[in-house]
Amino acid sequence: MTAPQEPGLPDAAHGAEPIETDALVIGAGPVGLFQVFQLGLQEIGAHVVDSLAQAGGQCIELYPDKPIYDIPALPACTGRELTERLLQQAAPFRAGFHFGQEVTGLEVRPEGGFDVFTSSGAAFRCKVVMLAGGVGAFQPRRLKVEGLAGFEGTQVFYHPVVQPEAVAGGDVVIVGGEESALTAALALAASRRARSVTLLHRRASIQAPPDGLANLQAASEAGMMRFRVGQVIGAEAAEGRLAQLHIAPPDGVPIQLPVDHLWVYQGLSPRLGPLAHWGLGLDRKQVVVDTEKFETNIAGIHAVGDINTYPGKQRLILSGFHEATLAAIAAAARVHPGRRQTLEYTTSSTRLHRLLGVAGG
Ligand SMILES: Cc1cc2nc3c(=O)[nH]c(=O)nc-3n(C[C@H](O)[C@H](O)[C@H](O)COP(=O)(O)OP(=O)(O)OC[C@H]3O[C@@H](n4cnc5c(N)ncnc54)[C@H](O)[C@@H]3O)c2cc1C
Repeated sequence: MTAPQEPGLPDAAHGAEPIETDALVIGAGPVGLFQVFQLGLQEIGAHVVDSLAQAGGQCIELYPDKPIYDIPALPACTGRELTERLLQQAAPFRAGFHFGQEVTGLEVRPEGGFDVFTSSGAAFRCKVVMLAGGVGAFQPRRLKVEGLAGFEGTQVFYHPVVQPEAVAGGDVVIVGGEESALTAALALAASRRARSVTLLHRRASIQAPPDGLANLQAASEAGMMRFRVGQVIGAEAAEGRLAQLHIAPPDGVPIQLPVDHLWVYQGLSPRLGPLAHWGLGLDRKQVVVDTEKFETNIAGIHAVGDINTYPGKQRLILSGFHEATLAAIAAAARVHPGRRQTLEYTTSSTRLHRLLGVAGG
């Protein structure tokens, strides 16, 4: 088992030596996270890459606060809670997580295994690939305003995780009309670290639950933030920094807003992207797998969760968990050739207890 880096550490390998790992998991949605756990039980170390800034896939991006009722033994839990529980369950296996980058390239190595490349220049050398890419890499819908692209990653961020310290003392404009934009604005306002917090949306209504809207009103009345209706139509730089936004309100006269940090939450759209060109068998943009190993037509590449298809496939989290379990068992035969495979229960196996770091019963 190779030694993965600590979760959340930045990549050490931008354009440098590839990170060597047993398995590379593409996608940190619920199925990718459970895949890490199942690989761990098979003593297969893993690194995980996701184009989003955080784990959870659809659960965290599309319905973080909505309850899910069909996870076995969890009568109800939100998308966020499920993500947290899966991260906690996989924690003993110390996978390396690499967020904010898309897997763009994959090469089959003649001597076996794969070289995998990401959009931010990281490279991985692995024995097996577990595709858990769901409906595709989530890409943020960008603000199409001239002059903004040059500040992406320094002052302009799409769907960032709220880090008040990073914007301390600055004027922050948050663009978006959905819950994610409102949640970010309220969290930042509550931290009182920014000089100003403006939530900007092209319409007067925000799509969020009643308590979120009540919090917006309360925070606005308390002077902690303000809500403006309008669209960004221009950007102005001063001394090499983004300094002002030109805003067109619905009633005509454009206004100027000072800005040090622009956070945009205009939704995400998934795209299968580069995966479509790796020679994988596809059926209507889904990766075709068998139902014994959940392996694709390329030996050593498995596909689990929403990304795969087979007769009877249901796009449910529960199905993805089953697929990840069988895929991990199949991957073990490749990563640990010659090792005899026996069914072991987590309740009674001392080997599994050691891996999980628990005392056992
Ligand atoms: C509104 C809604 C409600 C739902 N409710 C339920 C429910 O009640 N019960 C249920 O079982 N299911 C439900 N689902 C379906 C469930 O969310 C999906 O089945 C589940 O999220 C699939 O998990 P996954 O890990 O396969 O994919 P995803 O959750 O889609 O995660 C895939 C991840 O892979 C990343 N990715 C893809 N390609 C790349 C790449 N090339 N490089 C880097 N990263 C990549 C994506 O950014 C994404 O984060 C619901 C779905 C929606 C939209």
